[in-house]
Amino acid sequence: MALIVQKYGGTSVANPERIKALASRVARYKALGHQVVVVVSAMSGETNRLIALARELMPDPDPRELDVVVSTGEQVTIGLTAMALMDLGIKAKSYTGSQVRIVTNSAFTKARILHIDDAKIRADLNSGHVVVVAGFQGVDEHGNITTLGRGGSDTTGVALAAALKADECQIYTDVDGVYTTDPRIVPEARRLKSITFEEMLELASQGSKVLQIRSVEFAGKYQVKLRVLSSFEEEGDGTLITFEEEDNMEQPIISGIAFNRDEAKVTVLGVPDRPGIAYQILGPIADANIDVDIIIQNTGADGTTDFTFTVHKNELNKALDILRNIQAHIGAREIAGDDKIAKVSIVGVGMRSHVGVASQMFRTLAEEGINIQMISTSEIKIAVVIEEKYMELAVRVLHKAFELEEA
Ligand code: ASP
Ligand code: MG
Repeated sequence: MALIVQKYGGTSVANPERIKALASRVARYKALGHQVVVVVSAMSGETNRLIALARELMPDPDPRELDVVVSTGEQVTIGLTAMALMDLGIKAKSYTGSQVRIVTNSAFTKARILHIDDAKIRADLNSGHVVVVAGFQGVDEHGNITTLGRGGSDTTGVALAAALKADECQIYTDVDGVYTTDPRIVPEARRLKSITFEEMLELASQGSKVLQIRSVEFAGKYQVKLRVLSSFEEEGDGTLITFEEEDNMEQPIISGIAFNRDEAKVTVLGVPDRPGIAYQILGPIADANIDVDIIIQNTGADGTTDFTFTVHKNELNKALDILRNIQAHIGAREIAGDDKIAKVSIVGVGMRSHVGVASQMFRTLAEEGINIQMISTSEIKIAVVIEEKYMELAVRVLHKAFELEEA
């Protein structure tokens, strides 16, 4: 007997038929003698609908009230899921985040889980119930409803698995695992049987949308065994996220390619080069809570510096305003923004033991005439910023160049 947490995303609870299919799957696990905790998202599209509704009444919705509104999506699906289970003769009980007591901080719309009270869930499991918990939501210590950020149900699933010391956390979605890249762009993309936790973290942070990045961090920290599977298929092992690199010669150099259209580039041109200039530029950006990703600084022969960095597209204007305010003070010649960029990253632990991976990537892009604007590397990742219109082409040629279509 095992304790399994199964998290189902929006497409897996999109309508009564899908919820019935979910219930039959849970019934099969129950029949094998397992204890099952189910975490569900809102029906697909529901969270977007609720946000749009809120914006009609308040263009920039109050965060506390927005959480009150958007958390309702999951309250609907937990009740429906419990009913579907009961209809199959299975004892089931649903809980909102605040009923469980998934305690978070008070950062509305992006709260972090501080503590989970597992008493009720354990008692219910021991009395033979399937427990259905609302994803994406919690409660702060003052009793306010909070949410965990978009895609946050993954984090609820992993956090519950950690709190309950579950044997496995299964993430059911509309794809049957983690792919070498998005099959909508590269039809030859291949499902990975396993991927290391570190690679998954890089892929998620570089733009792969399969798992919310915070859930992967959580899984790593608490050593939760994670598996990504399709809720549309009866069989299949999905992709297992492993903690050890398998020590074999077959280890591919690259495991996956991620891409991201969400960033924009900010360039500060012709700043006199002197100590403290990076701080003068990035200090005010950080004070405004704007996350910066890639940073490049270049000093020319004339002693002035060009400083370039990327931020989320939504924050480009805010960043430009801040810099234009200090432009005279820092003595910059020009401040420019560009939101027609994309980031493409290759990720793989195999890079550690291979040289020439970067040059192969750059050669492949050069052969297609794709100009690289920025580069950022880590031990297991190389990311490049290119013109947005070349993004899909770049992903396709890199997928081929690194032979990712071959098993
Ligand atoms: N329903 C929430 C969202 O769409 C949480 C989730 O699906 O994970 O972001
Ligand atoms: Mg999701």
